[in-house]
Amino acid sequence: MSNIKTLPFDYSKLKDIVRRYPTPFHIYDEKAIRENARGFNAAFAWAPGFRNCFAVKACPNPRIMKILAEENMGADCSSLPELILSEAIGLSGDEIFFSSNNTPLEEYRKAKQIEAIINLDDITHLDYLEQIGLPDSLSFRYNPGPAKAGNSIIGKPEEAKYGLTREQMFTAYSQALEKGVKRLGIHTMVASNELNADYFIETAALMLELIADITQKTGAAIEFVNFGGGIGIPYKPEDSPVDIQAVSRGIEKLYTEHILNKSLKAPSIYFECGRVITGPYGYLVTKAIHEKHTYKEYIGVDASMADLMRPAIYGAYHHITVMGKENAPAECSYDIVGSLCENNDKFAINRALPSIDTGDILVIHDTGAHGRAMGFNYNGKLRAGELLLRENGEVEEIRRRETLADYFSTLNYPGLKG
Ligand SMILES: *Cc1c(COP(=O)(O)O)cnc(C)c1O
Repeated sequence: MSNIKTLPFDYSKLKDIVRRYPTPFHIYDEKAIRENARGFNAAFAWAPGFRNCFAVKACPNPRIMKILAEENMGADCSSLPELILSEAIGLSGDEIFFSSNNTPLEEYRKAKQIEAIINLDDITHLDYLEQIGLPDSLSFRYNPGPAKAGNSIIGKPEEAKYGLTREQMFTAYSQALEKGVKRLGIHTMVASNELNADYFIETAALMLELIADITQKTGAAIEFVNFGGGIGIPYKPEDSPVDIQAVSRGIEKLYTEHILNKSLKAPSIYFECGRVITGPYGYLVTKAIHEKHTYKEYIGVDASMADLMRPAIYGAYHHITVMGKENAPAECSYDIVGSLCENNDKFAINRALPSIDTGDILVIHDTGAHGRAMGFNYNGKLRAGELLLRENGEVEEIRRRETLADYFSTLNYPGLKG
């Protein structure tokens, strides 16, 4: 199974959009996001109290978060602004999972105020959190260390800064019980952009066995288990999507074996996926503004790594469609570049594409998660805005592009207003 890179608009529709909203911009496909969210939830219909808390960092736009909330997803936060965004769209309590690390007290205070589930990244945070009083519910993040192989983005678990060791987990639950915490859960997140379905089933096995162990050793009943995020998406046309049904079936079998058959308290099942929820349904639309022929062939576009960092940071592949030339032979080899004074500001290197002319519109695929969100202002680059392609075909601007005034707004210097 591979995936065909499709678009939710044709060239003439996109030209209309570009006339109203000049390039570059990210555009998100509401219909596809909703259908995908429904499919994800449906795959886990068997699972008690199932919820995916959408990882806000993947696409921190309240309009998108609200759409996902309407599709019964919660929010997974890791910072104060993300908590405030989640509160603003009407989420509260168990709908919000606060999975942060090295967390400042004011962030815990906010999480406690909106009754989010606080997920502690370290055993010492029990005492730290006691400064403001422990909440009724708590979770701990497990780092399996050498018990689990990592993957390339997140690295080996024992090298990762996150979570508690296995031994610390038992101490943590005993202490939490002593300190009067009423509801306890467990969390892990060991992979990122992982395409192998078995990886998630193996993680579930590790967690469900650990739950049995914790209950046996400490007497704590685990009321929810969060398997984290990290489900990958097929960025390359030859990649296959993760079979979510297969992941679900695998976990269901383990849940029966490790929980139900042992008559343990049946924990609710949570995920905190971001990428697999919105990633494939966002597109960065940009225009070719220069062609340059030196030792290589370059096409310069009006977007830059400020709008999409993944190729520069991870050497990640993002598929590119040249609008109007979808069926033209890919007879050229280009580096598609932005304007930063950084040689890694390249959306593609040696990419086989049809011959590109200045003025052509290029669509960079799979920017719906960890796309605009990762952007920055280095080199004075102003980030693109975000559009929503509504289910009825209308286009709504859900975040304007940045202005000079935004860029200068934190400076104390007379006369700089943009
Ligand atoms: C980044 C992150 C996620 C989301 O990861 P995806 O790859 O978008 O699914 C979930 N949980 C935590 C703790 C994270 O750091």
